[in-house]
Amino acid sequence: MRRNRSGASVVQSPIDIKRWQQQPPTVSEARPSRCPACGAASCPVGSGIQLHGHGTRERQVRGPCEAGGPAVLVVVIARRYRCVPCGAVTIVVPRGVRARRVYSAAAIGLALALWGLLGATAAEVRRRVCPARIVGAAAALGWATLRRWARSVARRWLFPSVPDLGPSASLRQVAARAASVLAASADPTTRALAVEHRAFLGAGHVA
Ligand SMILES: [Zn+2]
Repeated sequence: MRRNRSGASVVQSPIDIKRWQQQPPTVSEARPSRCPACGAASCPVGSGIQLHGHGTRERQVRGPCEAGGPAVLVVVIARRYRCVPCGAVTIVVPRGVRARRVYSAAAIGLALALWGLLGATAAEVRRRVCPARIVGAAAALGWATLRRWARSVARRWLFPSVPDLGPSASLRQVAARAASVLAASADPTTRALAVEHRAFLGAGHVA
């Protein structure tokens, strides 16, 4: 279970970002089947609803909406729930939105592929993945974000299903391995697409 900075559990809906934006789910459509904190069923048979809608929260998501598209900043309306038995607050976000990360999983997959597999520079990756209006601040940091993602993969905080390459691997090697795993996770019908597109698509499915 992942938590956000305020301690609420963050649960990914099966609905992806695009569908969520086109048709935001209702309270009942997005309600998790169980409370992730205590395991109580949200709608037990013969009893009232245990996981009540508790408002919404705006959540920024950065990165391209499609692998070859421009990087944008979108605001998704996440749904909040409060558990009657334990009081825990749960936030439901679209699939591909990660707790504590402002970029979509797909955008991170694309960035790791461009940097690790295609030899792009950090500046080139930034142009593809970072929305124009925040490039200024990001550029001042030399886009430390890219290295932070690779470091998070190496520490198994991000995409923990990616095999460990050991302490001697460079961050670019870690990025390359992660991108390969993500690309392999994309739907088989995407085989003909470029590897960075498959890493973009696969990242939405990988834990
Ligand atoms: Zn609970």
